[in-house]
Amino acid sequence: MKELTVTPLDLFMNDVVDKNPNEPEFHQAVREVSETVIPYIEENPKYKKANILQRIIEPERTIIFRVPWMDDQGNVHVNRGYRVQFSSTLGPYKGGLRFHPSVNLGVIKFLGFEQVFKNALTTLPLGGAKGGSNFDPKGRSENEIMRFCQSFMTALHLHISKHTDVPAGDIGVGPREIGYLFGQFKRIHNEFSGILTGKRPNWGGSFIRLESTGYGTVYFIQEMLAEVNDSFKGKNVVVSGSGNVAQFAMEKASVLGGKVIGFSDSTGHIHVPNGMSFDMIEEVKFLKNEKRGTISELAEKYSDTWYYEGERVWNIPDKVDIAIPCATENELDENDARKLIEKGVRCVGEGANMPTTTEAMHLFQSENILFAPGKAANAGGVATSGFEMAQNSARITWDHETVDKKLQTIMKNIHRQCVTYGNSQKSGHINYVRGANLAGFVKVADSMIEQGLV
Ligand code: NDP
Repeated sequence: MKELTVTPLDLFMNDVVDKNPNEPEFHQAVREVSETVIPYIEENPKYKKANILQRIIEPERTIIFRVPWMDDQGNVHVNRGYRVQFSSTLGPYKGGLRFHPSVNLGVIKFLGFEQVFKNALTTLPLGGAKGGSNFDPKGRSENEIMRFCQSFMTALHLHISKHTDVPAGDIGVGPREIGYLFGQFKRIHNEFSGILTGKRPNWGGSFIRLESTGYGTVYFIQEMLAEVNDSFKGKNVVVSGSGNVAQFAMEKASVLGGKVIGFSDSTGHIHVPNGMSFDMIEEVKFLKNEKRGTISELAEKYSDTWYYEGERVWNIPDKVDIAIPCATENELDENDARKLIEKGVRCVGEGANMPTTTEAMHLFQSENILFAPGKAANAGGVATSGFEMAQNSARITWDHETVDKKLQTIMKNIHRQCVTYGNSQKSGHINYVRGANLAGFVKVADSMIEQGLV
């Protein structure tokens, strides 16, 4: 009979699951990093001696608070708010706020953990954090959203400051919510400071922040393609989601010559066999950011455009060269990966955080498909938040072009770091998952050792 071997990764993960029960997304994120980091630690005993991995997976501080608010009919509601201040090793805690009914402690911890490595890759002085609430903004009036944001900030303001923790947006938190949160902080503290990023440029926001995650993801994919002497030109591109990240990924992929033939929202997907026009991309922005409708409306408005209710976008019948998941975690599973491989996919770049399941990721890697994990590919958003903090501190504004150039330089830098740590001498293939995890880990781990046992 074959003997079952328990690997150091299994032992480590058993302990993680015991200590953090009912947090599957957090376990998944830790496992994915540990798969590459544990063998590296075995070769570099200084990290083992300092027990770095056990320390890095433990948030420095977890804050859970009550958020009471009143709807337009006078009914009282209570939601739960979170801020997980994961790591301040490299700078003030930094990471978005998510308002979505699926939010719980495990989801926020997974996002905060990923953020630590992502922020390290940006090369900017940023620690890692994440927060949010299980509040569902869908179907709520402007006044209800404002009251919720004000109540959320009334609890959160005790724990953040421009030197301590600077939140931003994420799913369900865009410039509108950032405005209400910022207004409430300013009122409580009588202070106009860069306490949040993702602000509108009129009142302290950075140009390109809104575009930066989607643009940055496409810039990263552009670098991956250039590494193998290829480009977006003439490629069939599929993007999931139609929110902030998806909108600007579609836009930049089209600008670079890609043909975006599919996208989605939480209700279904749209197939555009001839590719999205810039007019249609603008319509998606209006629909999602102003009208707050569903994408089914677009199929009624545009000819040769088909809506499939309840179906993932990875199902579209055409050939797919590049897939850019930009919606949410675990939205692309092993079956979807198999379909994409059958359709000829050559490159997958994660605009969302952990949208690909572990099994799907392993399948892409085993087929030598270029695969960029979110912590590298979507780091352009937080990098531009870092630029917003720099502009706020100096009380200056950089123009569009300056910020876009800096964003491109950062994405090139992140790509370089991934190549340095992920290049296999044997196969010549670049493992971007290994590259991103190791480059982020080494920077944070070395800094932790230098700062002592805190
Ligand atoms: P938004 O709320 O703006 O958009 C999310 C989009 O995803 C919406 O179109 C939503 O549909 C869709 N969606 C949600 N669940 C599903 C699903 N199961 N299947 C298909 N579509 C779905 O969020 P963001 O664009 O800001 O964030 C998207 C992802 O990018 C998240 O993983 C986030 O953590 C990550 N990210 C965001 C950054 C940012 O700067 N905003 C930075 C780095 C990462 P509907 O409109 O119907 O709700």
